Amino acid sequence: MAESMKGLHRTHRCTELSNRNIGETVTVMGWVQKSRNKGGIIFVDLRDRSGIIQIIFEEKDVGSADFEKAEQLRSEYVIAVVGRVEARSGAVNQALVTGDIEIRATGLRILSEAEVPPFPIEEDSKTKEDLRLKYRFLDLRRPDLQRNLMLRSKAANIVRQFLIEEGFIEIETPVLTKSTPEGARDYLVPSRIYPGKFYALPQSPQLFKQLLMCAGYDRYFQIVKCFRDEDLRADRQPEFTQIDMELSFVDVDDVISVNERLIQRLFKETAGIDVKLPIPRMTYKEAMERYGSDKPDIRFGMELKNVSDIVKNCGFGVFASVVESGGSVRGINAKGQAEMPRKKLDALTDFAKGFGAKGLAYLAVNPDGTYKSSFAKFMTEEELDVLVKTMDGKPGDLLLFAADKDEVVFDVLGNLRLELARNLGLLDKDDYKFLWVTEFPLLEFSEEENRYVAKHHPFTMPMDEDIHMLDTDPGKVRAKAYDIVLNGTEIGGGSVRIHQSEVQEKMFEVLGFTKEDAYERFGFLLNAFKYGVPPHAGLAYGFDRLIMLIAKEDNIRDVIAFPKTKDASCLMTDAPNVVDKKQLDELGIQLKNQQRGLRK
Ligand code: ASP
Repeated sequence: MAESMKGLHRTHRCTELSNRNIGETVTVMGWVQKSRNKGGIIFVDLRDRSGIIQIIFEEKDVGSADFEKAEQLRSEYVIAVVGRVEARSGAVNQALVTGDIEIRATGLRILSEAEVPPFPIEEDSKTKEDLRLKYRFLDLRRPDLQRNLMLRSKAANIVRQFLIEEGFIEIETPVLTKSTPEGARDYLVPSRIYPGKFYALPQSPQLFKQLLMCAGYDRYFQIVKCFRDEDLRADRQPEFTQIDMELSFVDVDDVISVNERLIQRLFKETAGIDVKLPIPRMTYKEAMERYGSDKPDIRFGMELKNVSDIVKNCGFGVFASVVESGGSVRGINAKGQAEMPRKKLDALTDFAKGFGAKGLAYLAVNPDGTYKSSFAKFMTEEELDVLVKTMDGKPGDLLLFAADKDEVVFDVLGNLRLELARNLGLLDKDDYKFLWVTEFPLLEFSEEENRYVAKHHPFTMPMDEDIHMLDTDPGKVRAKAYDIVLNGTEIGGGSVRIHQSEVQEKMFEVLGFTKEDAYERFGFLLNAFKYGVPPHAGLAYGFDRLIMLIAKEDNIRDVIAFPKTKDASCLMTDAPNVVDKKQLDELGIQLKNQQRGLRK
């Protein structure tokens, strides 16, 4: 039977002990990692969240009753051990922090027995993720997950401390609220008191943090859960955590400055990485032109080059006609890849097609300076020479070209560049390259809705020099919006907000909202703005993703204690799930299909 804690006090975590404690009597508690009975001597590896220490049981020290208990120990039993710290009797175990000591037990209590776990509790488990997620409570015992969650806690703490030092105030905003305009689908919560009405879970605290600025709090932050009901991708979760902030009386540079210092402190104190300031900045336009992406990975070059002018009159109809119809021809130079086998080239072409390319044109500069190309026969020798020169093609290089509408070309080459970098091992995990991307377009045209939609959100301020184009050429207006990118991943983003009601009204007009629509949805914000609003701006980081990058994990679920699967379910609790009919009746909800969604 499990014994109690009566009279026992833990003195140390396992790895808080070292050879400085030799001779001391200590009490440690934790889980049995493994136990070996060597006939008369029992060795137990005891694990707690700090790590492992070896315990040695001999009847002469521990007494016969406790020795008998020690003989029963199995993996994952929870025990308390009283004993003396000694130098290791056997060989020192270099793999353990406590490898040069052990505890000679003088007392043992079995606090809890354990069944055999469905998978071994150890580092780098090869167990299938579904099984790990079903038994998350066991998975969370594994040292790698424990390290990640401790890192996460430490990071949150550093952020909190830094922001408070910088004059930010931590304020909680509601979870049961009204739809927020971040462009994703809302999670809805039915109201029992107002049947037929729904709360929405916040996609972000956007409107509330702006209201806090109106209320004079000046600098707000929150480490906050947000909810977006999107079709999930590998690194997305339906509920996720943001480091959210808003500042008053600031413009772009002020937000960037405080955040650069935050990033510097966070990476130094969590990972020992020195981030040099200032972090480079690049406009959206430049990022697209050079990298085909608004979140470029700048750990490597292979930049895009626009060769439209050079090929616009060439004999290759595909190139010429694309330029003629307003598209572009751009290329990248895969240095030293001229000899790429046909098979790999075909695989790259298929990859490019996955992003909408109709094909991929290539030109390999052979070591002897001659060309091998999919389009050489359509061009003159001089045309080819100019093209190769523009692309800085040297013998041994492989030039790859896409010709299409700009957005397709960017998408294709931006992704191709990354694919090549992955294939060629150009992505160094220990290299941390930060970048601010600024001057995003304010709007983007949605073919689906046949109107402009906000690229960031409808409260984002146009750039001063572009405001006049809101009426005449809204698609050209740039925004005071910025993203912070790390190694090709967007880790945060934000904007300066509109604080003038005329500009806000104009913005709604461009977005196709009537005044009534706007008031219906955001009336509380627009009303608040009537009573004195400071210029303000903010930013939010995806905290999970940030931790994933610091922890060098590839899977976002490995930095979240209880994550959802890619299809938004929890394998441990079986959420989402059916509910009792009574619960639905109380909410005034009737399901279309009565068979589904009801507990019998
Ligand atoms: N609310 C924005 C987001 O979640 C961030 C911001 O503009 O501060 O992306």
